[in-house]
Amino acid sequence: MPSALPTLPLSAKLTVLRGVGPAFATAFGENGLEAVRDLLWSLPYRYVDRGSVLPISELDRRPIHPDLGREIVTVLGVIKDLRQTTTRVQRMTILEALMDDGTGHLRMVWFNQSYLARVLKLGDRILAFGPLSLGRHGLEMRGPAFEIMGRGTDAPEDLWVRRFLPLYRKLGPITGHLRQRLVQEALAKVQAPEEWLPMELSRGLPDTLTALRLLHQPVDDSDPRELETRVTPAHQRLASEELFAFALGVTLRRAGRMQRRGMVVPTSPELRERLKTFLPFRLTGAQRTAFKEIVADLTSGRVMHRLLQGDVGSGKTLVAFLAMAMVAETEGQAALLVPTEVLARQHAATFERLLRQAAPRMQLLLGAMKAAEKRAALERIASGEARYIVGTHALFQESVGFSKLELVVVDEQHRFGVKQREALKAKGLDPHWLVMSATPIPRSLALAIFGDLEQSVLDELPPGRQPITTRLLEPDDAERAWAAVERELEAGHQAFVVSPAIDPTDETKVQLRDIQAMEGLLRGRFPEIPIAVVHGRLKSEELEARMESFVKGEAKILLATTVIEVGVDVPNATVMVVDHAERFGLSQLHQLRGRVGRGSARSHFLMLSGSETERLHALVETQDGFRIAQRDLELRGPGEFFGTRQSGVPQFQVADLVRDRQLLIKCREAAEKAAERGLSEAQTAWLKQQQARLKLAEIS
Ligand code: ADP
Ligand code: MG
Repeated sequence: MPSALPTLPLSAKLTVLRGVGPAFATAFGENGLEAVRDLLWSLPYRYVDRGSVLPISELDRRPIHPDLGREIVTVLGVIKDLRQTTTRVQRMTILEALMDDGTGHLRMVWFNQSYLARVLKLGDRILAFGPLSLGRHGLEMRGPAFEIMGRGTDAPEDLWVRRFLPLYRKLGPITGHLRQRLVQEALAKVQAPEEWLPMELSRGLPDTLTALRLLHQPVDDSDPRELETRVTPAHQRLASEELFAFALGVTLRRAGRMQRRGMVVPTSPELRERLKTFLPFRLTGAQRTAFKEIVADLTSGRVMHRLLQGDVGSGKTLVAFLAMAMVAETEGQAALLVPTEVLARQHAATFERLLRQAAPRMQLLLGAMKAAEKRAALERIASGEARYIVGTHALFQESVGFSKLELVVVDEQHRFGVKQREALKAKGLDPHWLVMSATPIPRSLALAIFGDLEQSVLDELPPGRQPITTRLLEPDDAERAWAAVERELEAGHQAFVVSPAIDPTDETKVQLRDIQAMEGLLRGRFPEIPIAVVHGRLKSEELEARMESFVKGEAKILLATTVIEVGVDVPNATVMVVDHAERFGLSQLHQLRGRVGRGSARSHFLMLSGSETERLHALVETQDGFRIAQRDLELRGPGEFFGTRQSGVPQFQVADLVRDRQLLIKCREAAEKAAERGLSEAQTAWLKQQQARLKLAEIS
């Protein structure tokens, strides 16, 4: 510890640390680390228990596991010999090193990692951990991971005073070893920050600086498992700071929005009567509640920002339609934005059916329209003749002028709205906004991603829904699936078959059946049956035509690769077979399953898979989309949960949206209280620093 008083603020740039010049600062910056705070919030990925580093002389007494044939051990020593060779036959590079730890020598080998020859130097003192095995020259360690602890004489002996050695990931040219040193220096110099967490969050937790010390310089009786899984009170302190900053940002943004004047959509008993005439059936209780919430927003004088979520088949479209009708039947315009042209056409057809004689007020707008057709559509939109507008993102192009756009409904694509909102704002428009999610979203994730939106949840399915029989079949049992398809076809129904989209660069694809192979199989098994095959590589007209033939009932089997392409409503389809079900997320499978069981006949959902049966079994056990979503989130994490399309999931350094979900909910509540009370100076300053790095949701 230096004798001078610690004076470094957490917000200081990393260049204040010894040895961090412009080049390292750039490298840190590329990894999102700008300030001392960022460095300190990047926690070690592993804690090596000094007590568990083994002397080389004892290694040959370690059991070689009978099945695995090896055991992972940690050794520490100096590299005494280092050579790289290339085998003649397969041109494989082999790097061999000999470690000496004072008790003996251990051979280490790495295959085809020639860059290591540039990293590792003779005389380096390294901490290596890897599997032990018996090679030609006796005991050796193959492909160990290692940390360079010192080069020549600069070995950081002081770190070894403690029992646990923190290890950090290498960031470009910044080695884990350098990070160790910088972290220690920063901790010695940094000033304790002012408390900015409200009491209800900080109670029982160590203060910030103590927490950082506990995690970067763990005390000897720490539990390394707890440190590595990040469940200690010290972690909770750092996670709370991140989550609270995030929640506060979202809450303030929402409060700002509440002050914005929104268009008031007039309502009247006549309007209500009119809307009723559009309804083909009685609304479910959940639909009625959701619609009431929407009406309250639309008439409040504020701008609506609402998320409508519910299980697949819960009837979100009908609620959205009613909201649109409320606007469109009172002289306004309402637009429904959908991700694909197929879906746009389908929604337009549904709306036409519901609107009956009012159908001429509906207008479809697609990117792929012929010039004349498009011009006519644009004219109808600009003149206000078109009140119900359904389209893809073509809706937001420059050339589209609205006469009185009051409501935008976004279907299926969560963050889809951000850019479009900006495009609209640029045109001086500030309509009400309703976002529909395709699958149920667990509450913590909804808070994180849609925290600035009000929420309506459809937690009830329309009556008379037949349960869907779900089965998980081994690939060897596939014939049972085809027999089920045959039975349904004979009864006059239609079938979906889903193949996973296969990336040609995917090395495991040899074991996967691609869509061509599946098509061959289906044509062989069902020679008389018209089959439509759709996948992402088709031109959009071709895709449309093939989808149409299935929707019309001409094609009896639809073989498709992705969820988007099967996002259609064909009540006559009563069976779906998903090949290689293990390639899909649980929520995605649940969403697929929702494509059948839309009519009155009993439906079947059959998954073919030879692996991950335990995970997939969740679908057999429950049809509750919210439970499936929670499970999916726990298994795959927030980024994957939404697939790769676009997630908008905020990036935290310590907090984890799955592990810390209760904490997020708590932070959200605390943020709402804090926003009401007004922020302290420390809170305002801290929040400003945090906003950029947390990528706050940008929907408002
Ligand atoms: P989601 O988009 O939520 O998955 P949809 O809006 O596509 O669900 O509705 C699923 C099916 O249920 C549609 O065929 C729709 O016509 C029907 N439906 C919607 N609301 C009701 C209701 N209140 N009663 C009966 N059927 C309904
Ligand atoms: Mg839908």
